[in-house]
Amino acid sequence: VNEDRITARLRRHSPLIGDDCAIIKAPAGKDLLFTTDFTIEGVHFTRDLPATQVGHRALLRGLSDIAAMGGTPKYCLVSLAVAPWAGERWTDDFYRGLLGLASQHKTQLAGGDLSHASQVVVDIVVYGVVQAGKALRRTGARPGDRIWVSGALGGWHHQLNPKPQLAVGRKLIGRATACMDITDGLVLDLHRLCLASGVSGELEDIPLLKNATIEQAMFDGEDYALLFTSSKRTNPGFCIGSIVEGKPGRILYQGKPLVPRGYDHFQSNSSVD
Ligand SMILES: [Mg+2]
Repeated sequence: VNEDRITARLRRHSPLIGDDCAIIKAPAGKDLLFTTDFTIEGVHFTRDLPATQVGHRALLRGLSDIAAMGGTPKYCLVSLAVAPWAGERWTDDFYRGLLGLASQHKTQLAGGDLSHASQVVVDIVVYGVVQAGKALRRTGARPGDRIWVSGALGGWHHQLNPKPQLAVGRKLIGRATACMDITDGLVLDLHRLCLASGVSGELEDIPLLKNATIEQAMFDGEDYALLFTSSKRTNPGFCIGSIVEGKPGRILYQGKPLVPRGYDHFQSNSSVD
């Protein structure tokens, strides 16, 4: 892979690339949001996934985190280590997928790094902004709030091109008491939100994507829907349960306790107790 050729190509997309650092003016009245995510061959994707999809999904993970905070993405940094099996064509396709999603959401590539490794490793950083003091957090869920999801669930098997829920996230400012994106499965992510807020959650009805099972909706990852709590009667999406007092992080489904398992990157398969 020819680094100078790729850098020259990327520079055509972004005048921020070329110096040792990108220079970005800090906006008045905003808080800055930063998030970083790995996308690793063998952990997050396999070689049969088209390179454009690898690029799309790598950036999606970061954009979805910005959405979960009620923010607007502005810039991204992309570091890519290319494996011997993935050549110039693969690398071009990777950036094409990534930059396609970036331009849909007015997110400018501000820099990155390019190297080699025995497997493909991507690290992206997304920088976004949110109205000062208004970012959605995981810590604000209170007993009596209802639990909501921004869309039907079913996990990665059932979504070809998941989208970051940026418009919904912005609408939830002032409505949601807590919010996060569902990346590792509804039950594990709700467990994390309830733990952060010091409350328990009771799930009732879960809206399913076409052909998805309830198991997939609860435990598969990569839905990229927003999971939030609110005391308001109406919100975008579906109401799936309520927040109750109880052991922090405890999740019940139709009255029975659930083990908070899902996609955990530190376990080779999935179970956490
Ligand atoms: Mg997240």
